[in-house]
Amino acid sequence: MKNLHNALLLKQLYQLKQLGYRYTDISLSTYQSSELHLPSTLEELKKQAQSCHLCQLSKSRESVMFGEGNPNADILFIGEAPNSTEESGRVLFVGRAGEMLTNMIEKVLLISRSDVYLTNVVKCRPQNNRIPTPTEAHSCLPYLKKEIEVIKPKIIVTLGETAYHYLTGDDLTITQVRGTINKQESYTIVPTYHPNYLLRNPSAKKESFADMKLIKHLMEELCIS
Ligand code: URA
Repeated sequence: MKNLHNALLLKQLYQLKQLGYRYTDISLSTYQSSELHLPSTLEELKKQAQSCHLCQLSKSRESVMFGEGNPNADILFIGEAPNSTEESGRVLFVGRAGEMLTNMIEKVLLISRSDVYLTNVVKCRPQNNRIPTPTEAHSCLPYLKKEIEVIKPKIIVTLGETAYHYLTGDDLTITQVRGTINKQESYTIVPTYHPNYLLRNPSAKKESFADMKLIKHLMEELCIS
């Protein structure tokens, strides 16, 4: 609940900053507790996200692309945002990037894509497939945090800098963090490149393969099969 409160507060601060404010003495009790409630089942959470209007992406979206996959997954992947093809087909991670991610999961981790859970920092498509703005990401973050809380994954794989940044609050670049693991109380974060980056930079595939091996090693340690 505190995360949601902080995310809403941060969202409001970003909105004020965009309006030109440099200082505010905004009260920490601005949001009433009735505004902070998010349901504790994925179905209810998805339903709530489908009627969300917390940011401007709700105005241009065709569909809210909530996370998909195994609701009891031990491994959860976080991307950036759905694209227009995915929004039209109502399936996340399709096309060449999706195929690459599926291959990483099935050919290196040796598990089925349907065994993991796939989600994004923002659930609605940013126009022209741009990176979500901080306001959009912070508005949507409570849904991601709640998905994690409900699914309780043991490993979270962040795909690219956006996912790592908004999950952890760290400003490190992806090249600084990939190849490392970030142990949290209830899960371990493994940052790796976004498949779109790999499509543009095929020479980074060997590092990505090393990251998948690191995940495989963690899976063995945590008895995940
Ligand atoms: N599709 C997604 O769902 N997320 C991404 O980050 C990229 C493509």
